[in-house]
Amino acid sequence: MPVIRKRFGQHFLEPAWVDKVIRAIDPKPDELFIEIGPGRGALTRPLAARAKSVVAFEIDRDLAAALEADAPSNLTVIVEDFLEPDWYMGFDPHQVPRVIRVAGNLPYNVASPILFKLVEQHRTYAANGLPFGDATVMLQREVADRLIAPPGRKEYGVLSILIRHRAHVEMIMRLPPGAFRPAPKVHSALLRLRFHPADPPVVDRAVFQAMVQAVFTRRRKTMANALLAFEKGDRTSFPTPAEALAAAGLDAHRRPETLSIAEFARLADVYTGKRSAVL
Ligand code: SAM
Repeated sequence: MPVIRKRFGQHFLEPAWVDKVIRAIDPKPDELFIEIGPGRGALTRPLAARAKSVVAFEIDRDLAAALEADAPSNLTVIVEDFLEPDWYMGFDPHQVPRVIRVAGNLPYNVASPILFKLVEQHRTYAANGLPFGDATVMLQREVADRLIAPPGRKEYGVLSILIRHRAHVEMIMRLPPGAFRPAPKVHSALLRLRFHPADPPVVDRAVFQAMVQAVFTRRRKTMANALLAFEKGDRTSFPTPAEALAAAGLDAHRRPETLSIAEFARLADVYTGKRSAVL
């Protein structure tokens, strides 16, 4: 049995939970699955038994080799950091499956970068006409709480806004530490992300993302104050916070954590419009 590598966030799902998770994923015979971190194959084998094919990204060479040694013919193991590869290498783009889905009991230390990568990947796939559907992922509960938090909650912030702008997020199941071996220190949750185009659309997503990230560095301040973190003193190309908030129809005294995703999108478009008018 290969050694357990903590740096890769290795907590293996106990057999008693595998069925529940597979039923929640509900794989179908015409679906292609991309699995993140197959580990010892707890989810991989039942996925491969039900789906058309599985492409599994595993960073740990020993685990990948063990999995590959008795892999079914519809399983491709890719020994790679999921945050690195060009996904087109995972399957033949000329043989597009009906739907591409993602599943994974994620390495918790890199769960957020993986989620951001997934929404970006959805964008790339959609632009190329590839049917990227959803992702069913296991996360630490604290991250899951941030993903589903409504405005006004202390968990609501950058992750909630940037991910939910591009995916509908649904809580499926909560799991205790004992559902994994070795047991992690934290509780876990299984979530489903159904990807969709930006909702609402924004003119410049880089401006939207940068603005959301900047104001949440000052989440206890008013928006008038928090937006100063975004301006970075660039007076020539930005409206003042008061001007931008007024143009977006937002009260300058509100705090960042009270704004909805639609309100952030409106505000970002004010900045985009003003900036392009000046530049
Ligand atoms: N799916 C297995 C299960 O449920 O028992 C293992 C889940 S374990 C929480 C996370 C897995 O992801 C480990 O096998 C680990 O080696 C792998 N992993 C960690 N970082 C990774 C990365 N950046 N890319 C691909 N796999 C990674």
